[in-house]
Amino acid sequence: MIFRYHTLCPGCSAKIILRLSIGIDSYQPFYYVCERCGAANKGSLEIDYSILPYGTKITLDGQNHPMETDFENPDQIITIGLDLPCILTGADSPESQFPFLHQSTLMGSTDKLIQFQNRISSFRSIVNSDWPKLKRLLTYYTNRDWIQFDREWENIFEDTSPLPKNDFERHDRLHRALEMLFISLLPELDYLILKKELNYLISGLPEDKLLKLKKFSIDLTKDKELLYFQRSLFERLAFMVENFSAISSGFPALFYNANGKKDLKNLRIMRDDFEILKAHYLSSYEICHKVIKIIIGIQNIHFRGDPDLFDGGKPTSLTKFDRIPNALKINYINQNIYPEFHSRWTISLNKKLRNAIGHNSIYHDLKSGMLIFDDGDPIPYSKFVSDVLNLLPLLLYCIQVIKMMYILQYFKNQAKSS
Ligand SMILES: [Zn+2]
Repeated sequence: MIFRYHTLCPGCSAKIILRLSIGIDSYQPFYYVCERCGAANKGSLEIDYSILPYGTKITLDGQNHPMETDFENPDQIITIGLDLPCILTGADSPESQFPFLHQSTLMGSTDKLIQFQNRISSFRSIVNSDWPKLKRLLTYYTNRDWIQFDREWENIFEDTSPLPKNDFERHDRLHRALEMLFISLLPELDYLILKKELNYLISGLPEDKLLKLKKFSIDLTKDKELLYFQRSLFERLAFMVENFSAISSGFPALFYNANGKKDLKNLRIMRDDFEILKAHYLSSYEICHKVIKIIIGIQNIHFRGDPDLFDGGKPTSLTKFDRIPNALKINYINQNIYPEFHSRWTISLNKKLRNAIGHNSIYHDLKSGMLIFDDGDPIPYSKFVSDVLNLLPLLLYCIQVIKMMYILQYFKNQAKSS
């Protein structure tokens, strides 16, 4: 559905017709750029979906905007897809006039568009009905408060999933519940492939090395650091849920075919959430570079039976490995045993972008829609937003690695007590 509004550019008084192709959220912030003076003017659309016809309230340039006069001769007509990557140039083309329909061209088929809609609505409906409960469950889990955890589990799942019987089941079921929530956001199934690679590696270990791995996991779980990693990763997932409207506009891009992906650089996301998204990117980058230590430990056990034993003896231990510059850590990953992980890591984490964010030498240029920074080519904001979503498989993988450490620990305890 497209709403039309008339406004004057607050900078140069150009007569502008805004065509807003509305999104799903009830509050939709946006900005538009005046072609004449280049000013980026902010606005928001609030929609009450509970009444028909929908109650709407538009705010432009920070003021309520009751302007209803129709311009006979507008200076500009600007169409914006409020939660979609959209084309701004060539105002007369169907691509720019109907941002939603244009998505199916970018995806290559209507089927894909339907898939996209199903997945996003399935994610939103689980979030709406269960997220506050799931978040409490996560808190009880990270507190290892099993009494409250079990109570909350029963509250959420009632008869559909019986109470976990022991710690192993608590670790396992919680992670399955998280996967159920986030799987809708993973159209490319990369996470499942990554998970399989890890499971294959661990299940293929001979008995003596498996014992070493169990000892490694016990040493790790004794240390508070592992729980700290786990909390940080859960915070990243919570961020994605609670700020979903800031990233959901990048979600269609995950369904684009090869041509559509190439077009992403010409598509604009007309809202500006860079301040919060860059903080999330930075935190995700850092936590992945912490967890890689464990992934390397498993690799060292696979090859040499000792988590601290590196090829050629350098670095001399995992602790020393942890201290090398982050950017070098991926070089230690063996691509023969971790081909999927290595490739996912390289796709997901951009060192130059991370440094620019860390050094505060990057900005979102609203006029061009580009992220501009010193040490690298500009990145379209639309690509950045979809890249933020693309961190998810790696974050889930790191969560899975840590879960493994807790589960192996449990097996060891079982073996001891039986
Ligand atoms: Zn202007």
